[in-house]
Amino acid sequence: MKFIGAHVSTAGGVENAPMNAEQIGANAFAMFTKNQRQWEGKPLTAASQKAFKERCEQHGYSKAQILPHDSYLINLGHPEDEPLEKSRAAFIDEMERCQFLGLELLNFHPGSHLKKTDPESCLATIAESLNQALAVTEGVVAVIENTAGQGTNLGYRFEQLATIIDQVDDKSRVGVCLDTCHLFAAGYDLRDRQACEETFAEFERLVGFEYLRGMHLNDSKKPLDSHVDRHESLGDGEIGMAPFEYIMADDRFDGIPLVLETPNPDRWADEIAMLRRFSED
Ligand SMILES: [Zn+2]
Ligand SMILES: [Zn+2]
Repeated sequence: MKFIGAHVSTAGGVENAPMNAEQIGANAFAMFTKNQRQWEGKPLTAASQKAFKERCEQHGYSKAQILPHDSYLINLGHPEDEPLEKSRAAFIDEMERCQFLGLELLNFHPGSHLKKTDPESCLATIAESLNQALAVTEGVVAVIENTAGQGTNLGYRFEQLATIIDQVDDKSRVGVCLDTCHLFAAGYDLRDRQACEETFAEFERLVGFEYLRGMHLNDSKKPLDSHVDRHESLGDGEIGMAPFEYIMADDRFDGIPLVLETPNPDRWADEIAMLRRFSED
């Protein structure tokens, strides 16, 4: 079964996300549990938590179909002590918010070395941040998103994702979310069936599908290996439709949230319907 959706709005409260997802015909969704551009989030009220859980149940969204995303400010690989501590505290808060909502996944961007340390030690810092967060929380899997490798962001090579996972103590609580736009911008071709076969075989070899806990389905405005992260609506970018047809027909992508972060929310319902057709062909 394919769980297909989009990153929906939580305007007015997290409890509005399930309705926003249902309106576009989604059977999965992503969301922020707090304002993604601020450090401090308002605590989730008991009423909000209750309403969120009730509506998820009512509209048929299990925790396997929901992929929350953390704040953009967090850098778990920060090379300086004070901002690193701030990021670690904020990440633990994000994990706890997921716990309060009865969720089991938290998608995050691994981190950036900011040219102040080498990539290897930045990856070790990220893994240590995860070990600390997993030790004080329960039940939530930290889902590392691959990046486009823009600026000093790490996690754009499968080797880097594997290096982080290797250093995480509790392997049952670490996973990966692959973003098709980021893959392509990082140099992994997806433009035809053969390219998809090779890219995902490489992922299987270096990381392993057992760690795949979600996907972000986006076309790319920028060319292969550009290291620039600009999402495009499906089929309108440099990638084209091949990977979306490929993913929908492949059962290795069953049972995990497959989430659009394409730039035009007015097209999400159509994009989801199209993906569903691919999955039924
Ligand atoms: Zn992301
Ligand atoms: Zn992106």
